[in-house]
Amino acid sequence: MFEVLTDSFKSAINKIRFADDEKSLKKALDTLKRALLKADVHHKVVKDLLKVVEIETKAKGVGQLNFLKALKENLEKILTAPGKQGFVFASTPPTKVLMTGLQGSGKTTTTVKLANYLKLRNKKVLIAACDLQRLAAVEQLKQMCEQNEIDLYFDEEQKEPLKIAKDALKKAKDGLYDVLLVDTAGRLAIDEELMQELKGIKDALEPDEIFYVADSLSGQDAVRSANSFKEKIGITGVILSKYDGDSKGGVALGIAKQVEVPLRFIGTGEKVADLELFVPDRIVNRLMGEGDLETLAEKTAAVIDEKKAKAITKKIKKGEFNFNDFLEQMEQMKKLGSMKSLIGMIPGMSGMANQLKDADLENSEEMKKIKAMISSMTKKEREMPSLLNNTRKRRIAAGAGLSQNEVNRFLKQFKNASKMAKKFSGKKGMQDLQNMLAQAKQGGIPR
Ligand code: GDP
Ligand code: MG
Repeated sequence: MFEVLTDSFKSAINKIRFADDEKSLKKALDTLKRALLKADVHHKVVKDLLKVVEIETKAKGVGQLNFLKALKENLEKILTAPGKQGFVFASTPPTKVLMTGLQGSGKTTTTVKLANYLKLRNKKVLIAACDLQRLAAVEQLKQMCEQNEIDLYFDEEQKEPLKIAKDALKKAKDGLYDVLLVDTAGRLAIDEELMQELKGIKDALEPDEIFYVADSLSGQDAVRSANSFKEKIGITGVILSKYDGDSKGGVALGIAKQVEVPLRFIGTGEKVADLELFVPDRIVNRLMGEGDLETLAEKTAAVIDEKKAKAITKKIKKGEFNFNDFLEQMEQMKKLGSMKSLIGMIPGMSGMANQLKDADLENSEEMKKIKAMISSMTKKEREMPSLLNNTRKRRIAAGAGLSQNEVNRFLKQFKNASKMAKKFSGKKGMQDLQNMLAQAKQGGIPR
């Protein structure tokens, strides 16, 4: 999600890669300045950042390492605002979260994403449908919650959002929920009526968190409206939505500093899995092209069912990995988010993420064909890939609307993939993988 910014940082760092004199420092700072302003980072934030980086680099001696160190430390400072990081649970459940923002900013979508994020971490989550302004708002939430198996409290007879919030809280307490997320109405612009409605809910609910969902496409306007919400009702966190779109990305760098409220999550797509935790030091690593294995590992751990993972590993080791396992693995992968967002977290791979653009593995033509092929197999064939002789392959090709060549190619790929998996599943395999990652990490920072 930070590919463009990462590229700018890399090219700035490269400016003092081979020559460590003040002239190259100036070049590096200039490159950075241009890139940050172009990415729509607020000019004052840029100015302040570059000034300290320059002073600190010079104090320690102009050179790439000192420059990098000063840049990283000060970027982290800019990204950090007083307050909590990530999602913090209240000491007595349910943790109550009020979701606020302008209309269309992505509140409802983000509420469901957050619920899904918490559900994957084994939390019991209830959403309260308190947007009664837009006709279809409750219906939208109902559908999204149903699709993602998330509990929703709504009352279509009720006209008072405040009453719904209170009833939802009662349900959350009685039902021993861990978290209550309250989706609220937005407006096109900030108006008194909306603020009064939110204040009422806030006073009655005493939320642990008030998140402001800001549309990153609106650039500096997002910062301004976040500031008004902070002033009028008080916010404890910002979530930037639509970071995947044409957003130049800079707003994510400036917002914590400009609003003095921590940025907690970033929305990177329309799907429920497209929500990224925003932790300043990890983000700095990503911006420097060093990847973020911590987040990757955490995501994987949240999504992957350990028991199932063990069972699969066992099968792989025995060479018994079959098509059902394959489909199941694909389902698991889906929960991790887009391929692009994952690749950006691998050290040294941010450039590749940029090239992938919108490559959506799940919906790719290739994957559709593979799924069609597997659907045309009998139960037995899915369990025992070795059964597939020519007659069976012909039948499957006809059933799936594929050519025999395609079927042969997919089967060969599958065979190779199982072989690779088998190779990496042993102790030595893990060692190889770790070595690979360590090497990638070394290559991450240009030296
Ligand atoms: P609300 O009025 O604040 O509740 O906004 P919604 O949640 O209904 O979202 C408005 C539109 O923005 C919908 O079409 C969402 O699919 C879309 N949207 C929300 N978050 C994201 C995001 O992170 N990326 C993209 N591409 N679209 C988003
Ligand atoms: Mg909404």
